[in-house]
Amino acid sequence: MIKLLEYQGKALLSQYDIPVPAGTLWPGRPENRERVVVKAQIPAGKRGKHGGVLFADTNPETDLAARKLLDTTLAGWAVEKVLVEERLEIERELYLAVVVDRDHSCRVLLASAKGGVDIESVPQSEISRQLLETDGHIDPRTLTNIMGTLGPGAPEKLGPIVEALCRLAHAEDTLVAEINPLVLTTGGDFVAADAKVVLDGRAAFRHPDWLDLETSLEGTAFERRVGQLGGIASEIDPNGTVVLIVSGAGPMMATFDRLVDNDVPVRAVVDLGGMTMRGAAGMTPIFNAAFELGAPVLFFSSYFQTGRGDLVARGIADACQMRPADQRLMARLQGNHGEEGRTTLAKSGFEVFEDLEVAIGAVASQTRKAR
Ligand code: GDP
Ligand code: MN
Repeated sequence: MIKLLEYQGKALLSQYDIPVPAGTLWPGRPENRERVVVKAQIPAGKRGKHGGVLFADTNPETDLAARKLLDTTLAGWAVEKVLVEERLEIERELYLAVVVDRDHSCRVLLASAKGGVDIESVPQSEISRQLLETDGHIDPRTLTNIMGTLGPGAPEKLGPIVEALCRLAHAEDTLVAEINPLVLTTGGDFVAADAKVVLDGRAAFRHPDWLDLETSLEGTAFERRVGQLGGIASEIDPNGTVVLIVSGAGPMMATFDRLVDNDVPVRAVVDLGGMTMRGAAGMTPIFNAAFELGAPVLFFSSYFQTGRGDLVARGIADACQMRPADQRLMARLQGNHGEEGRTTLAKSGFEVFEDLEVAIGAVASQTRKAR
């Protein structure tokens, strides 16, 4: 799973002729425009609500806003890049996304006339869902339906954008390609004011150009090392007290969000990926790298739906034999063969939990002690 930052996502959209605002990374700025939006580039959404999207009317205001963002941690992420873009005059905000539907193993086009920061609270009935053909092609009837959903506007401008997003999703192997908001400007144009693109890492062999993308993300030494060992890591807060270790990107984001909600500063997150299947041999070097970060708490969290919790726990217990005495091991393990797994981990020095919320609470209180 490769999550693009907004500016990278927009570069991709514009390759498919989807209009995006004129913009560039700070300290650059769009030419001949003083009224701009200044946006933190972090791999998480809801920046609007967290103060990650600022407005500026003059060049000095822009610099001030950019410096302020670069100085903050937003939703747990240190801001390292800031995008400066022309400010759009908004008539309406629409929602448009192509996501992979695991149940049908195909892509679905989601569309709503009620886009913007409150998309989560828009009722399902106001978001249309259309299954796409496997080749990313959208049939004319589906397109007409979508246009109806998106309300009044210029269909001759909107249609090509919807088609282009479907084409992009297919050709670029995206798990998510979301434009929220797709802005209808007061001038009557449609422009992608935001872009969330998640690429399917399993398709990397079809996209040699992704290598440039990943290196452009400039991984830290720790991130590159874990990558070489077969995992995926993100360093987040240098003063964080917890290293979160999971298996799978979905659980990672869910658990990470709960830690942030409970004011737990996260040092780094590590996705063991397929290494859980390789036992201690595969996982030991990753755990050793994690220990070297020196955070007081290492927290493993997993819900085994199909895999064997007990087998993975056996590997983890062995992989953690060399842990430093001053680091605390905590684990939440639930699901298939969970009980045996918890017993194994408890025997090798983990504080174990079954329920995620209980575990998060314990990690939070441990963290407060460590500070
Ligand atoms: P997110 O909160 O992380 O999804 O960040 P977005 O890029 O979606 O921005 C959040 C909100 O900021 C949008 O829904 C808009 O309401 C507002 N916003 C973003 N860009 C512009 C712009 O160019 N002009 C105006 N007026 N508002 C904007
Ligand atoms: Mn958005």
